[in-house]
Amino acid sequence: MRFFRRSLITLGVAATLPTVVFVAVGAFYFLRAERARIETDTLSRSELATMLVDGRLRRDLAALNVLTSSVDLAKGNMREFYSRVQRVKAANPAWRTILLIDAQNAQELFDLRRPLGTPRPLDETQSQALSDVRRSETPIAGSITAPPEALAWVYAPVSIEGQLRYVLGAGIEPHEFQQLLSAVAAPGTTAAIVDRNGRFVARTVSFETRVGTPATEFVRNAIRDGDRGLYRGTTYEGLKNYTAFHTSPWSQWSAHLAVASAAIDAPTTWSLVAAALAAAGALLLGGTLTLLMLRDMTERRRAEETLRQSQKMEAVGQLTGGIAHDFNNLLTAVIGNLDLIRNKVKDNERLQRLADNALEASRRGAKLASQLLAFSRSQRMAVGPVDLQQLFNGMSGLLRQSVGPSIEVRMELDPDARMVMSDANQLELALLNLAVNARDAMPAGGVLIISARLTNAADRDLPKRDYVQLSVTDTGVGMTEEVRARAIEPFFTTKAVGQGTGLGLSQVYAVARESGGSLHIDSEMHQGTTVRLILPLAPADAVVPAPIPAAPVPAQAEPEPVKKNAAVLVVDDDRLVRRFMTESLRSLGYDVRDTDNGVDALVLLDAQRFDLLLADFAMPGMNGAELGKAAQLKQPGLPVLIVSGYADSAAVEAALGTGKQLRKPFNVAELGAAVTELLQSREP
Ligand code: ADP
Ligand code: MG
Repeated sequence: MRFFRRSLITLGVAATLPTVVFVAVGAFYFLRAERARIETDTLSRSELATMLVDGRLRRDLAALNVLTSSVDLAKGNMREFYSRVQRVKAANPAWRTILLIDAQNAQELFDLRRPLGTPRPLDETQSQALSDVRRSETPIAGSITAPPEALAWVYAPVSIEGQLRYVLGAGIEPHEFQQLLSAVAAPGTTAAIVDRNGRFVARTVSFETRVGTPATEFVRNAIRDGDRGLYRGTTYEGLKNYTAFHTSPWSQWSAHLAVASAAIDAPTTWSLVAAALAAAGALLLGGTLTLLMLRDMTERRRAEETLRQSQKMEAVGQLTGGIAHDFNNLLTAVIGNLDLIRNKVKDNERLQRLADNALEASRRGAKLASQLLAFSRSQRMAVGPVDLQQLFNGMSGLLRQSVGPSIEVRMELDPDARMVMSDANQLELALLNLAVNARDAMPAGGVLIISARLTNAADRDLPKRDYVQLSVTDTGVGMTEEVRARAIEPFFTTKAVGQGTGLGLSQVYAVARESGGSLHIDSEMHQGTTVRLILPLAPADAVVPAPIPAAPVPAQAEPEPVKKNAAVLVVDDDRLVRRFMTESLRSLGYDVRDTDNGVDALVLLDAQRFDLLLADFAMPGMNGAELGKAAQLKQPGLPVLIVSGYADSAAVEAALGTGKQLRKPFNVAELGAAVTELLQSREP
């Protein structure tokens, strides 16, 4: 079992795994594609940003360039040039100032922010710009100056006679770039434009305070290591993000457009969630499958066990049936002869008592034999509607008496489950057997519950219809698994010699089976036992046959023979039984002839008229019923009494039609009564 369970779990996992792997791989590719999409999108936005920035810078340079060809500058008319510069600045409202650097002396000749005066030494940005311009000999974009007056600079060289003489610079309000940036960056995202030194020119967040200050190390590392790409970082505000950037090869300024990590991680997260959901779903499916298979296997094993059990019972039944048949014949002779003896010693009380004892013992034997016959299916049950309420009422006194005062008996009958299909007498006996078992299991007292209710959980092997579960529960010692498995076997008992026959549950089993139901035993050591009889529910329109009045107790006094010397032919292959019947009838005053087979009987019938034929049913050659028919051909109207013990009564009935039958074992009085009855019915 454990092996099966383990391999089933493995199977479940094996079934689950491909789904999970598939979803995981799918999620991975989805994630990659999604990332790539965002990456390209943001990258192209950042490229666009640098393009716009460069365009802006080039336009500013073009405007500045107007001044480079000034004649005043070439002639060194600084005052005239200064006022011309003032006019140009007025035409470019985005410019805060224009300055002029003397390239040869590395001096600032003027700055529109101040009145024209004596030259001043260059500050750091200006010397940097000067050396850059000198190197490239073309107009360039400079860098942004640090706050408080953060300005973005462009510089244009002024060469006279092939010599770099001056550098013109224009300081542009960073707001211009800020506007460009907001036009490009997706709303709600962090973005920045950074100059060649890694200082903010524009920034979507905290522009006023950040402009002109250095960007984070993530930004600076990125532009140092390449001119485009995606990097991970954290903004000054603490926001983790992926940033796409692009650096303009001309201005060396770069645009950085961030995508909040969540946006990039979301696909990952959702893919993982999807994978997890798929895994859970697959596991659930696999689990359900595994469970179903386990259940199926358990059920199949149970079915196999049931089949094995019923085959065993069948075999045991055939064996016991044969034994019981012989046993019954013997008992018929024993009981009959004891009865004869008893009648012969009427005047000797002691001998009569001895005969009575022997008779009682034989009757007990006969009861055993009849139980065995029931078990072996040889005895047909009269299955019909049985009213459980009536049954319970009728037997509750007997039940309570059987279990004794220390056991509390409860009977719970669901009115819907009142009518079942069974044999009332056999069912009563079964309940009695179960009650006795319960009593034996509760030597110190306890509770015995007999209950009946509808069930829809009947066995799968039973045909589909409504069933009643009649259960008998005790609070006794319970059974071990071994005992439980063997309990219904005939002769299986755990009780001391003389205390148990091992036939109780066999009878219960036979009743359940013959009623078209089944029997189940649930038991737990020291907890108690529940025996459940599953019986078919009787159809709603079923009518309970009126209880058959108890068979008239055979009169102790010998019945008066109707016709003292009526001729009776006795046919039985069993010598002992035949002799008993012959002698009993003779003692009753009949004229008796006997033989052990049908052929001889027919010969006798040819020779003589008889008033009655008494024949055993089960005989080699011609059976009793066949003989009866043949006899009636020879002597029409001849009454026939069939003696049957074993042969299943159904067969006897079928063969006999309306014929009379007498069940073995019987005593003298019963035999006499049956014979008298037949002869009387013929009288008129
Ligand atoms: P018997 O009662 O003559 O032994 P049964 O066929 O009635 O034969 O029962 C067979 C065995 O099953 C008993 O010997 C006993 O071990 C066990 N058994 C039956 N009913 C119960 C019960 N209610 N509680 C415990 N054990 C039981
Ligand atoms: Mg018993």
